[in-house]
Amino acid sequence: MSDKAEVVIIGGGIIGLGLAWQLADRGINDIIVLEKGYIGVGSSGRAPVIINQHRTRKEMITLAKEGVKTLEELPTRLEFNPLFRQDGSINLASTQEEFDEIRKNVGLQNSLGVKTELLEPHEIKELIPPINEEKILGGAFIPSDGIPNPYAVLFGHVNALTKMGVEIRPFVEAKKIKVRSGETKGVTTKNSDINAPIIVDAAGGFAGEIAKTAGVKIPIQPMKREVLVTEMLKSSIDPAIISAHGNFYLAQMLRGEFACGSTAAKDGDPTLDSSLEFLRWISRRVVELIPQFAYVKIMRQWAGVIGVTPDKKPIIGGVNGVEGLYLACGLGDYGFTFFPAVTRLLAEDITSGETPDLLKPFSPERFEG
Ligand SMILES: Cc1cc2nc3c(=O)[nH]c(=O)nc-3n(C[C@H](O)[C@H](O)[C@H](O)COP(=O)(O)OP(=O)(O)OC[C@H]3O[C@@H](n4cnc5c(N)ncnc54)[C@H](O)[C@@H]3O)c2cc1C
Repeated sequence: MSDKAEVVIIGGGIIGLGLAWQLADRGINDIIVLEKGYIGVGSSGRAPVIINQHRTRKEMITLAKEGVKTLEELPTRLEFNPLFRQDGSINLASTQEEFDEIRKNVGLQNSLGVKTELLEPHEIKELIPPINEEKILGGAFIPSDGIPNPYAVLFGHVNALTKMGVEIRPFVEAKKIKVRSGETKGVTTKNSDINAPIIVDAAGGFAGEIAKTAGVKIPIQPMKREVLVTEMLKSSIDPAIISAHGNFYLAQMLRGEFACGSTAAKDGDPTLDSSLEFLRWISRRVVELIPQFAYVKIMRQWAGVIGVTPDKKPIIGGVNGVEGLYLACGLGDYGFTFFPAVTRLLAEDITSGETPDLLKPFSPERFEG
């Protein structure tokens, strides 16, 4: 079977769907989104998402800030409620070094328009009464941060895209990106050949594999992130908690369960296996910080795979030497926070042929040569 489209997007995660929406909103709706599994099978459907702006580099804070603004506007944009609850998030320090670092970042975040408050331990205790004050030296609180329902965000996009005429093909894997004479020609799947002058690799942690078929090497490492959820509890802790000290987070979800996860992982493990090691590790840390959790039941565990780059920044933009091939990957631990900005900027790049300044720090060029 032979098909054609103006744009083929490989990957039906939040980056692929978000980009399809941005392009369709600019009048390009002859788009096919290929997803090798069901929508949400990748990290976008496995993240207990905290939209958080506790970033430390200017360009990343700018992306995160747009993320919050867009999440607030999403019900109007998609005519779909992403259930975005803005109870803020707090980044906790347990050592003087961490507190100094947080203080520095608070200055940078405020200078870029992200309202961040530096809090003393007693102020944190007021905000989170069950916290063990002895374990904290201070923290940074961002009131506008929040938690959406990732499936509502994903399926809000699916609904909107379907109305806009975009074709989403779940359970269709892109096998090869076809390139001839330095130009992208299309994508081969098991049952069809899709001709398209523009291909976007938004394949998450596995973006490197499909890029290789076009002769393009990208330094993306798939990394496992594990999570557990507790039984449902009465609403008890409003802000999401991030521990700078322990590389872990916990946040109460809409239905009352707490999701606890970590941003530390064994490098390069691309499997979806849950481990007893993680269960023990995270339980110990959470109970140290909030002793009452010793009495809370753990209900489930799962894992997701994210794509991480050597400089921990996404790779977004056109590939030199392969006309029509774009990369939108390497979103790491913050892809949900960054998706509104990176997909808007990439859509601008694709439609105008000019790379917006904000996108330049994320160009694939930095890894060429
Ligand atoms: C446990 C966990 C917690 C997280 N917490 C947060 C958080 O609190 N805040 C935040 O902002 N972010 C968080 N993230 C990160 C965020 O989820 C990711 O950065 C984001 O979802 C990346 O989106 P994506 O579309 O690039 O990738 P994915 O969602 O992984 O989508 C890529 C898709 O491409 C498909 N695919 C791959 N190869 C092919 C192929 N050859 N053909 C067709 N389809 C293909 C995959 O099946 C997949 O569905 C978390 C991630 C995890 C795993």
